[in-house]
Amino acid sequence: MTTHVIGAGMAGLAAALAVHGPVVVHEAAMVAGGRARALPDGTDNGTHALLGANRMALDFLRGIGALDEWVEPEPDGLPVLDMADGRARRVALSPLGWLRAAKRPDGLTARGLAALMRLAGPGDRAVGPALAAHPTFLRGFVEPLVIAALNTPVQEASSRRLAAVLRRVGTPGAARLLVARRGLGPDLVEPALAAIRARGGMMHHNARLRALRIEHHRLAALDFGDEVVVMGQGDRAILALPPWEVARLLPRLRVPTEHAPILNLHFGHATPGPVRFLGVLGGLCQWVLVRPGAIAVTVSAADAEAREAAADLAPRAWSEIRQLARAFALAGDWPEEPPPCRAVKERRATPRHRPGDPPPPPILALRNLALAGDWMEPVLPATIDAAIRSGRRAAKALG
Ligand SMILES: Cc1cc2nc3c(=O)[nH]c(=O)nc-3n(C[C@H](O)[C@H](O)[C@H](O)COP(=O)(O)OP(=O)(O)OC[C@H]3O[C@@H](n4cnc5c(N)ncnc54)[C@H](O)[C@@H]3O)c2cc1C
Repeated sequence: MTTHVIGAGMAGLAAALAVHGPVVVHEAAMVAGGRARALPDGTDNGTHALLGANRMALDFLRGIGALDEWVEPEPDGLPVLDMADGRARRVALSPLGWLRAAKRPDGLTARGLAALMRLAGPGDRAVGPALAAHPTFLRGFVEPLVIAALNTPVQEASSRRLAAVLRRVGTPGAARLLVARRGLGPDLVEPALAAIRARGGMMHHNARLRALRIEHHRLAALDFGDEVVVMGQGDRAILALPPWEVARLLPRLRVPTEHAPILNLHFGHATPGPVRFLGVLGGLCQWVLVRPGAIAVTVSAADAEAREAAADLAPRAWSEIRQLARAFALAGDWPEEPPPCRAVKERRATPRHRPGDPPPPPILALRNLALAGDWMEPVLPATIDAAIRSGRRAAKALG
């Protein structure tokens, strides 16, 4: 009774580790990891952060023996530089941290907080218009949180998805922000592959699923072009693919069709460390990850920026990084001239989370075929945690 997992992103890797019995993973690319992968030179495609609230993701990391490689770079609150007035401060991510006045976000008032709590209640509205009466709080806290967690511009972002995030970050430890110490390759993808191999699982790379053969409401074969895998009695499959691939293979399913880009700028610049994670308000950069040897800038919901040339973006980003370095006394040299920079634009980084989005399709598409992927999560936004949840759920649904 073999389980075929199609797609070696986080959903597929989690599914492969959750199923019972023999497992074969088929991946179209030469490398695993999907939208959370290492590029050929080892650089992450984009910075990936986890929160203490991402329980499934942390449990997955523990299971593959990689949890200790994820570090909390800013335990005293996130360093944030406001480009409008040059103010540098540390902001707590969780309401518990706001008990200390110095860590409160800008513009936090009792009314603003009450408006945010109302958004966290029932219903689904666009976040930006609902908090328009609290512009400072919106700009200083809610918008950066929405963009980072939902990868959707705040004016169109779903309050229901934000509420799911807010409910989870309110508990002790849930707002801790973690990043991979070395990178997604050594601290996420490689240990996951090693864990799959250790339990006898097989990996097929360069194996793009072209079509499904369905007979009598049952998956009969997987067509990879040069190879057709016939499903034996008791064999089953999990499609752990992005929504556009599922739409191609199963055209009758309703899947998300609107996505938002994430832009990452990778500067090759050596700093002595430690790992740092800093925020910028009102600039091009949103988050800056400083690792010894490299600096990565994240711009989420980057509709406009994804259309700009890297040569125009790099000097602007570097100027902001130098200001961050000064404001927070980052170790190392910060020359005026930007170091070599590479832009990685993920045009379909995640679905856009808007109010009233239809729910995902049922997990079981056929008796022996389950669906997984970050977009299959009905409550939380599409993240690593959602992908891992969905992979585990798909494995469970197949029994
Ligand atoms: C730049 C960037 C930054 C992000 N930052 C964060 C963050 O900070 N925190 C966070 O939690 N999340 C973040 N995310 C989101 C996170 O990466 C995704 O939610 C998650 O990786 C999705 O995993 P998945 O397995 O559902 O899909 P994918 O990663 O898309 O995996 C699908 C896999 O299927 C393969 N495939 C596609 N078609 C076929 C086919 N026909 N046959 C076989 N294989 C196929 C693909 O090559 C891929 O490997 C970010 C995403 C990006 C792009």
